[in-house]
Amino acid sequence: MSPQRRIPMTGKLSHLGLHRLLALLSHDNEQAYIVGGAVRNSLLGLPIDDIDLATSLTPEAVIDRVTMAGMRYIPTGIDHGTVTVIADERPYEVTTFREDIDTDGRHATVRFGQSLRQDAERRDFTINALYADASGFVSDPVGGIEDLLARRVRFIGDPVRRIREDYLRSLRFFRFTARYAKGDADEAALIAIDQERDGLARLSRERVRTELMKLIEAPRVLYILRVMSHRDLVEPVFGLPLDLDGFARMLQHDPGADLFLRLAALAIHKPEDALTLRETMRLSNAETDRLEKLGEVLMQLSALPRPLTAKTIRKLAFRFGRRVITDALVVDMGRRDAKIDSELWTAAGSAPTHSPFTGAMVIKRGVPAGPMIGEIIRHADAAWEASDFSSDPKLLQNLISEAIARYSGTAAAAPTPVE
Ligand code: ATP
Ligand code: MG
Repeated sequence: MSPQRRIPMTGKLSHLGLHRLLALLSHDNEQAYIVGGAVRNSLLGLPIDDIDLATSLTPEAVIDRVTMAGMRYIPTGIDHGTVTVIADERPYEVTTFREDIDTDGRHATVRFGQSLRQDAERRDFTINALYADASGFVSDPVGGIEDLLARRVRFIGDPVRRIREDYLRSLRFFRFTARYAKGDADEAALIAIDQERDGLARLSRERVRTELMKLIEAPRVLYILRVMSHRDLVEPVFGLPLDLDGFARMLQHDPGADLFLRLAALAIHKPEDALTLRETMRLSNAETDRLEKLGEVLMQLSALPRPLTAKTIRKLAFRFGRRVITDALVVDMGRRDAKIDSELWTAAGSAPTHSPFTGAMVIKRGVPAGPMIGEIIRHADAAWEASDFSSDPKLLQNLISEAIARYSGTAAAAPTPVE
């Protein structure tokens, strides 16, 4: 066993509310521990996210004790033993020791228990079943510390059995391996995941979403996606093939690429790809719209003659917005293994964001309000694009007059446009 059995109770772990809560839940022969990610990451010296607690108290008893102490709580998942307690303004998810007695691959029927060991055994990976008391002393019932130090992600118990209890664990294995493991992914787990692949289709997409999003942001995402691809697991999970080589090149140029760019580089070639991901990854409407637009731009870019010109990029940026064009340039560059041309980058970033033409301008020239106004402005905009967004006021006047003449037929005194 490793000597490193204590975590420093610093940063988030030093908050008074946490210590009041641990004391409150553990007096009179009961037990309360910090568990899971907070302990794991503290041992690794990594930042910690949420703080989860495990206790021998039933949820009702947790509620009694915290209410008596004047703390607020939210009954987030009483059936599964979870109460969120607010202590000194911070939320802690407190879950009663439990065993999962009946599982169907998606849900578990739980029985509350008294033993930390049983609670550990219902968790997924050894590195996620570490418990720290208020002094930082770590209990390690299933050998998580050793695996953590060796940077191994291993199922607790038999991988096949553990996956059959909850198929999400296959994706969690990929996610945690991509985040915490060094070296090759655990072979026994991979064989089990392969064997139990059909269960993946039964998962709720909301749960899948969380795991995939975290996977895509993990440091070794590329390695894991290659492992998945090697076992033909990419399409069943994502619903479409992924461009791993383009993604790899984008990461080389831009290792800090955010989740959105990563997703785009991996999966988006055309607008419909965004609709596929909306289903498989439960994208929000805003996320889908942004990726759909990006798909449209990438499709247009791939049809254009190369090298691209600054004028074309300005035009696209005016039509679609600057941001989507810079995103598309990054993704396109990965796919072509080219460096981004700084002239194109500047063109995208400095393209005009608004049309210089307004409805009021058109109406002032005698066109009655109505759908025609929009048509006229669109026509003037197209001519303005063709001028590469000239700022010459005379030319702008000419463009709007010409558009009016063309669409209303009645427009007076429209001087013919220059060139
Ligand atoms: P993160 O930093 O990503 O939040 P975490 O370890 O806190 O990491 P969570 O998904 O928040 O991960 O889960 C909290 C803990 O609950 C895990 O550490 C693990 O012990 C347990 N757990 C969560 N989901 C499962 C599952 N599907 N099967 C078994 N145990 C699970
Ligand atoms: Mg967590």
